[in-house]
Amino acid sequence: MGTIINGREKAKETREEIKNFVADRIKASKRVPSLATVLIGEDGGSISYMNNQTKLCNELGLIPKNIKLKEDVLESEVIKLIHQLNEDYSIDGIIIQLPLPKHLNEKNITSAISHKKDVDCLTDINMGKLYKGEQSFIPCTPQSILHLIKSTGINISGKNAVIIGRSNIVGKPTAQLLLNENATVTVCHSKTVNLKEICSNADILVAAIGRPGFVTREFIKEGSVIIDVGTSMVEGKIAGDVNFEEAMEKAAFVTPVPGGVGAMTTTMLMKNTCEAMMRNAY
Ligand code: NAP
Repeated sequence: MGTIINGREKAKETREEIKNFVADRIKASKRVPSLATVLIGEDGGSISYMNNQTKLCNELGLIPKNIKLKEDVLESEVIKLIHQLNEDYSIDGIIIQLPLPKHLNEKNITSAISHKKDVDCLTDINMGKLYKGEQSFIPCTPQSILHLIKSTGINISGKNAVIIGRSNIVGKPTAQLLLNENATVTVCHSKTVNLKEICSNADILVAAIGRPGFVTREFIKEGSVIIDVGTSMVEGKIAGDVNFEEAMEKAAFVTPVPGGVGAMTTTMLMKNTCEAMMRNAY
């Protein structure tokens, strides 16, 4: 029987570290980190993310700055605002809530963020640095995945790691992070042949597909670490990509959904904002 990797508990530990960091800054009469969030339009998911970020900023002592723009705002106006935030020394991190309204070009807008304040690693500069193994911001979901794997105490070096999914926001950066930790990494996708066989040799299996319950016992190696990134809505409830009960029968460690990777991501955003402040030393 496997052990559950409790993302909520791990997030709480990291939040305590952030709280202490901010409290020490206040004691020393230094400024505290600030996160600017730009919301364009009325997307329900984005509003809820922004509210969660604000709540967590307040809980940890960071300063949230929320900017709401109208759905029909011009791209040039959004870029002008981002440039102002780049120049504003009281702001450490900038987040643009995605998805954007259809008339706005995501690449043009995310590229306008200064790489020094790009706390979700959306710019080409930070992505490039990540792939070269240089210091950059680590995108929040892959950072949570790595943190949870490390929390099991296993030595990642030399392990067979398999990632199902090759998106730019989850699969590819996670593969790179694990490669940087000296794992032997295989990235699988919808055209992969012999998927089950490849996965069944994985010491670390990360499922980032968006297909509820896709990973069943035949995919799982005895004693492995299973990280379930999937979040799909099934009958009004969030479901992961892994059949949790079957994974628990064979694996040594399994993340649940909810309460696994997703429970850590906003905390990692706060951690990156603190790091931005320290690196930029404003
Ligand atoms: P995505 O961009 O849709 O990518 C899905 C990936 O899965 C693609 O690479 C796709 O292959 C692959 N795939 C789809 N069907 C497959 C199959 N039958 N066999 C093998 N591979 C298959 O999704 P994403 O943005 O990476 O997100 C993945 C999941 O993670 C979603 O459920 C999302 O909601 C969740 N997510 C969770 C968090 C969190 O914080 N917990 C954050 C981000 C995303 P191709 O490239 O060949 O199409």
